[in-house]
Amino acid sequence: MAVADIATRVRAGDSTAVAVVEEYLAKIRSTDGDVHAFNLVTADVALAQASAVDDAVASGHDPGPLAGVPIALKDNMCTEGIDTTCSSKILEGWKPPYNGTVVDRLRDAGAILVGKTNLDEFAMGSSTENSAFGPTKNPHDLGRVPGGSSGGSAASVAAGMAALSFGSDTGGSIRQPAALCGVVGVKPTYGAVSRYGLIAFASSLDQIGPFATTVEDAALALEVIAGHDPLDSTSIPSPAPALLPELDKGVDGLRIGVISELANAADPDVAERMTAALGALEAAGAKIVEVSVPAVVYGLTAYYLIAPAEASSNLARFDGVRYGLRVDGADVQEMMIRTRTAGFGDEVKARIMLGTFALSAGYYDAFYGKAQRLRTMVRRDFDAVYQNVDALISPTSPSIAFEFGDKSDPLAMYKCDVCTIPSNLGGDPAMSVPFGTGDHSMPVGVQVLAPPNGEQMMFRVAAAVERAAP
Ligand code: GLN
Repeated sequence: MAVADIATRVRAGDSTAVAVVEEYLAKIRSTDGDVHAFNLVTADVALAQASAVDDAVASGHDPGPLAGVPIALKDNMCTEGIDTTCSSKILEGWKPPYNGTVVDRLRDAGAILVGKTNLDEFAMGSSTENSAFGPTKNPHDLGRVPGGSSGGSAASVAAGMAALSFGSDTGGSIRQPAALCGVVGVKPTYGAVSRYGLIAFASSLDQIGPFATTVEDAALALEVIAGHDPLDSTSIPSPAPALLPELDKGVDGLRIGVISELANAADPDVAERMTAALGALEAAGAKIVEVSVPAVVYGLTAYYLIAPAEASSNLARFDGVRYGLRVDGADVQEMMIRTRTAGFGDEVKARIMLGTFALSAGYYDAFYGKAQRLRTMVRRDFDAVYQNVDALISPTSPSIAFEFGDKSDPLAMYKCDVCTIPSNLGGDPAMSVPFGTGDHSMPVGVQVLAPPNGEQMMFRVAAAVERAAP
C-alpha cells in the first residue's frame, strides 16, 4: 500500500497502526531469514510506537503525515538506547544516548521503526559484502548483491518488509542499491537533510535520503526529514521545499541533458533502458540534448582520495575508550592497536591507511589538495551545463546487480559508483528511478540529476520517468 494511503487510513481511524505494523513484522519474519536486510528487528519498539499512534488518533490528536508507516533505518543512524553498529565489530553492542535529527523527525511524523538495516561496514562498499555480520541478498535473486552500502535499506523496501527506509549516500550508497533492487532512492542536496546523529564517513560528502517504492512516497518522506537543523552546521538555513505539487507538472518544454561522458559507462542492457527512458521523456514533450561535463571523468579519482582522507579522521574516535569494543593490552597504545585491529574489517583498514597517507605531511598537496581542485572543476562544469538544461539524466549503475564474489578486485567495486560520485562531489541532488529490467530480468535504474536545491525539478522529471516506466 502507498505510504500516503497507510497514513490516511491510520489518521482516519480506518485501520490501526498496530495492525499495519503487525503485517510488516510478519513479512519480516517470513522473508528476512533469506534476505538479511536487518541487523536488528525492533518489534517491541515498533508495537509500542504503534500503540502510541493509535492512542493519539483515539484521543483526537493527529499523529502526523507518516502515521503508522513502518520504516527501517540504516544502522549508521543513532537511535537512543537501540544498538547502532555501522555493521562493524568495533561498535557491536553500542547503544547511542540520543536520536539523530532524522530519527526524531520521523517519529514526530508518526512513523514506526521496525528495524536497523545492514550496510557495508561504515558505509564503505557497493554490495554489503563488507558487512561484519554477513551480506544482504537481493530480493529479486538471492544469488546477487543488493548493492551498497545501504543494501539492507534498499532490500527491506524492495521485499515489502518496510514501507519506507532511509540510507546515507557518500558516493552513491542510496542510488546504486535502489537501482539494483528496483526501488526509488534519493540523495538530496548537500545540507538539505540534517546529519546530526549520522555516524560520519566523509563529512563533506555524506547525505541522508529515503528509499521508497514510488516517487510520490519518496517525496513525502523527504518533505518530512528535510529542512534546517541548528544541530548540523552544514544544514541549509531554509525550510524544506514542497515536492508533492511538482509530481504532476510533466516535462513538456523542459530541456534535459544526457551526460556524454557517462553515456558509454554502462553495460548494453542498462544502456538500452536509458535510451528507452530518453525516448519516453521526449515523447512527453521534453527536449533531449547531449551535453558534456568533462570533469566527471576525474570523479572516481578525486572521491577515492577525499573520502578516505575524511574517513581516516572521522574513524579515529573508535579507539576502545569511548565506544563499543575494547581489547585490553599492556598499556593504552597497545589496547588501541588491538581494539582497532580486531574491530575494523579489511576495507575500512585499507581506507584509513590510504586516507592517512593522502593527508600526511609532504603528500597533502600532491594528493588531497589536487583532489580538492578536481572537485572544484566538477562543480564548475555542472554550473556551466545547468545554464542550458533543467536537469540531467544518466544511468545510475553501470550494471545490473552482480553475483556475490564477482567484484573481488577493489577497483572493479569502486567503478560501480562512476555515475553517482559526481553529484556527491558537487553537492547536487540526484535520484534513481526504476525503469524496467535488463539481463536476467534484474531491475535497472535511471538517474535524474538537478542543480543544488533543485529537488523540485528533480522530482518533476523523476515522476515523468516513473510514469513512462514499463
Ligand atoms: N561505494 C562507495 C564507497 O565505497 C560509496 C559509499 C557510500 O556512498 N557510502 O565509498
